[in-house]
Amino acid sequence: MLIVMEKEASDEDIRGVVAKIEALGYVAQPIPGGERTAIGILRNPGPVDPALFVDLPGVQEAIPVSRPYKLVSREMKRADTIVEVTGGVKIGGGHFVVMAGPCAVESEAQALTIAQAVKAAGAQIFRGGAFKPRTSPYSYQGLEEEGLKILAQVRAATGLPVITEAIDHHSLDLVEEYADIIQIGARNMQNFSLLRRAGQARKPVLLKRGMSATLDEFFMAAEYILSEGNTQVILCERGVRGIGSHARNTLDLAAIPFVKRESHLPIIADPSHAAGRRLLVAPLARGAVAVGADGLMIEVHHDPAHALSDGPQSLYPDQFATLMQDIAALRPGQWS
Ligand code: PEP
Ligand code: MN
Repeated sequence: MLIVMEKEASDEDIRGVVAKIEALGYVAQPIPGGERTAIGILRNPGPVDPALFVDLPGVQEAIPVSRPYKLVSREMKRADTIVEVTGGVKIGGGHFVVMAGPCAVESEAQALTIAQAVKAAGAQIFRGGAFKPRTSPYSYQGLEEEGLKILAQVRAATGLPVITEAIDHHSLDLVEEYADIIQIGARNMQNFSLLRRAGQARKPVLLKRGMSATLDEFFMAAEYILSEGNTQVILCERGVRGIGSHARNTLDLAAIPFVKRESHLPIIADPSHAAGRRLLVAPLARGAVAVGADGLMIEVHHDPAHALSDGPQSLYPDQFATLMQDIAALRPGQWS
């Protein structure tokens, strides 16, 4: 249930509605809007009777929310959420953003070389993993805090905000301290305690879709973050398990317009982890832009043959620059 307040409703009216919700044993979540405040009712086990609210002072209407996810749904919030990143970068609501960089931060020189190349091509955010969730325990696990320090140096040198993944509570504390966006990876999409911790963070969160997750499960994962008070969430479609071996995963392009209809949160696409091979990255990226993605996350490496992680799917800097031009053609005025 969503209680929509009148434009003229006073703070006291809002407090009255919140008190009524709490007296019923539920949780009230005020959602300030441009013109009026709405108050979401959460943790109600069954339907709530609108008659309990419609006659309270300042209440305009009580709208039942039919979806199991509440705070992420367009029923609760009609306007697109615009996520604001340090440095004035905005994502969503027409603001399109490309995040690019290596799968893993390997050294200061490697990160800086790639950051300068992707910045020159027009990327607005630098990506690079410091804590790597690898399928094999024998694969490269990342530079950990040392990698975060390198990311902070890259930001200082290039002015690009940085995004990096947190894989557990300890790394999330560190990522929150050093980075501009906290990434929760596909493998942790249903790590509910980590999602709650991300919801308490004071930085935006990029949540990747689990490799076998339905969209309802994806929305519910985002709901965990919002329900802790962090509304700055970017969703990311990165491919789900498919059939055949032509691609590592299947980029679910249909998910992008569907998510945009169901949710106010921005959704970007990661064609790199979907493709698993360089050949497929640019076509999938262009497809994602064409179906309305709010941005892209692309892996780029200046020496992919020697990359410590995901070299086969990393674009060379010149391929990335060409892709950026193609995107600008699909979104006229994008980099002008
Ligand atoms: C990544 O972005 O480095 C990554 C591990 O992605 P995913 O969680 O989508 O596999
Ligand atoms: Mn990777």
